[in-house]
Amino acid sequence: MKALVYTNTNEIVYRDEPNPVLNPDEVLIKVEATGICGSDMHAYHGRDPRRVPPLILGHEVAGTIISGSQKGSRAVINPLITCCTCYYCDTGFSNLCDQRELIGMRLAGAYAEYVKIPSRNLVALPETLSSVHASLAEPTATAIHALNLARIKSFRPLAELKVMVVGGGAIGMLVGLLLRGYGCFDILLAETNDLRGKSAAKHTGCQVFNPITDSADQEDSFDLVIDCVGGGKTRELAMSAVKPGGTLVHIGLMDSQNGLDIRKLTLFEVTLIGVYCYTAADVRAAVKALDAGLLGDLSWVETRPLSQGAQAFSDLDKGLSASAKIVLVPDSQT
Ligand SMILES: [Zn+2]
Ligand SMILES: [Zn+2]
Repeated sequence: MKALVYTNTNEIVYRDEPNPVLNPDEVLIKVEATGICGSDMHAYHGRDPRRVPPLILGHEVAGTIISGSQKGSRAVINPLITCCTCYYCDTGFSNLCDQRELIGMRLAGAYAEYVKIPSRNLVALPETLSSVHASLAEPTATAIHALNLARIKSFRPLAELKVMVVGGGAIGMLVGLLLRGYGCFDILLAETNDLRGKSAAKHTGCQVFNPITDSADQEDSFDLVIDCVGGGKTRELAMSAVKPGGTLVHIGLMDSQNGLDIRKLTLFEVTLIGVYCYTAADVRAAVKALDAGLLGDLSWVETRPLSQGAQAFSDLDKGLSASAKIVLVPDSQT
């Protein structure tokens, strides 16, 4: 099969790879759409020790099942494989499973014609949802998981909160869109790339500001701050913006250096919540939300042929793409 292989730092090659070999519990999926995630970009930069080249990246997938009893059905993949029996799986926190594995990290991912996955990781894809939009189910599930955790810790309903979203990438866009879908309209989105910022303002309806060039006093004024980048600078902004008694949700994995003010956290009872992936229920909720149109028309999503994937990575790297999400589709579909 043809696949896009991460071969070295800043190097992605479109080449022939062997087809996946199935274990008894797995099915083969013909990939119809597969999104480029911030974590794939992180690997591309050689900054993710968990992703070792050569490796087929990609974990945001929709396609058609072409083996087993559900052959011919369309599906979204829940790419987080869990054991189903450990303490965490057993108590509803499968995202913390002792043996969790995200495809495209050690196991081959979906930037290919075919990908394999345990059949228990499939979510049925409604007729009315396109594969390209369905491939957003995975990042949408992360956004849903983050907002569910924020909701549990907040004293008021999400709709009543003043919220700052840090980062106008796909997770930031999806968090903004979901919040608006939930009836929350007092949202400020921080983005340093002006191309991205314009797109975020247009498509999410959130107020957008550039924390580098726009000098606004945001200190201690947000009930909820969601850092969708996770770098020292964004943590610093998030920590400063959250108000006493407020909640800081941390999703990104950019770096693990500084930015947290532990004195403020303690003296002003700021709740800090880490978010990693989603549960199976979150993925199903994401498919429903996308199908119901809760996230709008998704016209900000760009598609490119799989064979042009290396260019897509390079454009994202250089900040040349206004789109917060590029979805790769098989060349036969373009
Ligand atoms: Zn992702
Ligand atoms: Zn488990």
